[in-house]
Amino acid sequence: MLEVEGVSVYYGRIRAIREMSFTVNEGEVVALIGANGAGKTTTMRTISGLLNCAGGKIKFAGEDITKMKAHLRVVQGISQAPEGRGIFPGMTVRENLDMGTFGRKDRSGVSKDLDRVFDLFPRLKEREKQLGGTMSGGEQQMLAIGRALMSSPKLLLLDEPSMGLAPQFIRQIFKIIREINNQGTTVLMVEQNANQALAGAHRAFVLETGQITHSGTGKELLANPSVKEAYLGVG
Ligand code: ATP
Repeated sequence: MLEVEGVSVYYGRIRAIREMSFTVNEGEVVALIGANGAGKTTTMRTISGLLNCAGGKIKFAGEDITKMKAHLRVVQGISQAPEGRGIFPGMTVRENLDMGTFGRKDRSGVSKDLDRVFDLFPRLKEREKQLGGTMSGGEQQMLAIGRALMSSPKLLLLDEPSMGLAPQFIRQIFKIIREINNQGTTVLMVEQNANQALAGAHRAFVLETGQITHSGTGKELLANPSVKEAYLGVG
């Protein structure tokens, strides 16, 4: 579904991503893990079209989207829930969700997706009229994911979905990600919470200073001694 081929991304003269290549197959949950500053957010923003590639190619469903504008990538089926949630704090929960439907004209599809989001996150239904900015961190994270789902994506990009959440919320978010995937949405997530991310992913990649250094199934990487030592907090 997604093919990243030899992609490099610069901030000015600094190369944040170095000739990175990986794929995401339809139906998978794929996790990108790595330390602070490894390039995880840069990778996500490059796939969603918010940053330009200096070299390489990105293909989605066989089509070259390397130069495609971000809003058109959403129409093609790529949607991102950004790091730090990025909801609209002065809008209600419902208005935030409606923002995710921008450009959609299939009313019955939108109403189905709203039901789906409220089924996944009953809390959002309860708080439909509440201002986004007055909700807890966990609820804002749910709202950011819900808003991304309102564009009915084929590929959902999640940037640090567990960031800043209390442990009980972290477990819940990973469970919901699995459920979203079981319903047919392919997921690419970046995470610092490597244990949980690897446990919930079909395949995963380790990113170090803009390059992929390890890849395998979630289970393989959980058992890999150097990954364990560097990212899983055990020797
Ligand atoms: P974090 O978990 O801290 O968000 P990350 O793995 O997502 O880290 P990126 O945010 O993608 O990493 O950053 C990759 C590299 O690019 C880092 O060295 C960072 O300092 C640099 N970088 C990121 N954003 C900018 C920017 N706007 N201008 C210059 N350098 C940047």
